[in-house]
Amino acid sequence: MSTHAHRWYTSEGHDGGLHHCKKCGRSHQGPRPKSTDCPVSDAEHNAVAWLGPAGLYPTRLDAVQNGEQCLEPVSADQLFSYASALVQLQIERQRPPNVEGRKTETGKLVDVLPTAAVEGDQLVISITTECLLHAITCSSQWPVNEAGEPIQINDGVLLIQEIIHELQRGDEQGTNPMHRLFDEAALAALDNGSEAVDYDEVRP
Ligand SMILES: [Zn+2]
Repeated sequence: MSTHAHRWYTSEGHDGGLHHCKKCGRSHQGPRPKSTDCPVSDAEHNAVAWLGPAGLYPTRLDAVQNGEQCLEPVSADQLFSYASALVQLQIERQRPPNVEGRKTETGKLVDVLPTAAVEGDQLVISITTECLLHAITCSSQWPVNEAGEPIQINDGVLLIQEIIHELQRGDEQGTNPMHRLFDEAALAALDNGSEAVDYDEVRP
């Protein structure tokens, strides 16, 4: 015997009302019933996916059609934690095997992304060389081989030196890619409504 509450909504107000359960679809004419015999639990109603012993399915029907009998409703939160665990796993698997100075014990997402922070009177952008070398090969513009896989970096240390050189190489005006990065970030902050400047002073 189920003990779930129905989730009624009323479509017609007269004669006590016509009520429908959003969960099980049952209709009831008259006063809104207080019975708690809905066959559908809130978890089942709110499920964004269904998990069975053989896999994950978008609907209960898909699962049943695949022969699943023992099913658990999966909430959006649960689905997110499954997905993020999977992403974590892929990041760890994709770590390049032949990069000098790699740290095998780390696998946290935060290690993959460059971070920017103020240290003392300096703005410091940091990324491990390992992550940098991996990240650049993930760019859609990085060349691929015949199998469609990113071409390998044979000398990571040299490429890092070359990247540093490019970062510091100025154009005719002496502007380098880091200057442009900071200019763009500052203008983006203003576009996003920065409260750090006084817009009244802006010349119309
Ligand atoms: Zn119901």
